[in-house]
Amino acid sequence: MNKVSAIVLAAGNGSRMQSQQKKQFMEIQGKPILWYPLFQLEQSPVDEVILVTGEEDIPYCKKNIVEKYGFSKVKHIVAGGKERYHSVYNGLQKVSGSQVLIHDGARPMLTETIIKDTIAGIERYGACVVGVPVKDTIKQVSENQVVATPPRSSLWITQTPQGFETKLIKESYEKMMEQPEQAVTDDAMVVEQYGNHKVWFIEGDYRNIKVTTPEDLAVVKAFLKLVK
Ligand code: C5P
Repeated sequence: MNKVSAIVLAAGNGSRMQSQQKKQFMEIQGKPILWYPLFQLEQSPVDEVILVTGEEDIPYCKKNIVEKYGFSKVKHIVAGGKERYHSVYNGLQKVSGSQVLIHDGARPMLTETIIKDTIAGIERYGACVVGVPVKDTIKQVSENQVVATPPRSSLWITQTPQGFETKLIKESYEKMMEQPEQAVTDDAMVVEQYGNHKVWFIEGDYRNIKVTTPEDLAVVKAFLKLVK
């Protein structure tokens, strides 16, 4: 059996939420947003979780989330970095499994099915990303002017988790970090550009949204009511 690790990212400052409190710690139905993915991972076949958060938030996460809710699979809480990819890179240093899932802590609607499908995707493809086909027509735009309309049937929304053989994602990140500048918004991109390895989509769930702006909170609350 492969040992499976998961990195949960919670080191963003959530400026688009325009709230006093960082979004990953805001509460939905009495639990911080970060509780939801950690709870699902605790019940799942994942063996260890590495939580990445702001350096100043490590004591809070340890006491008020990990210890309070008894998340025994969280083996490390590490400080993130300026950009998301710095946080992932820091988390990767602690991974001891041969397979790793990387998940945004701001996606509370993670499910058991998504976790299992991602692990199966790693087994099968070595690199996979959870997502869903787009519903709207997407246009490429420059200064409000349409530049191109890619065929909708070829477009998917990228979510997390994104799953990889640990060796592949680590080597890809190492290569990327040698470059002076990066415009990286997800982990699949790192493998696409530096890993010389194809990335496959795993069909996820439209509810697996990232809480970014205030209206997303209302959407997640509505989803949670429907689930119950
Ligand atoms: O900024 P974005 O919405 O893409 O963030 C996605 C996830 O990455 C969030 O869970 C956020 O907390 C995390 N993140 C991080 N370190 C950063 C920026 C974002 O861990 N420097």
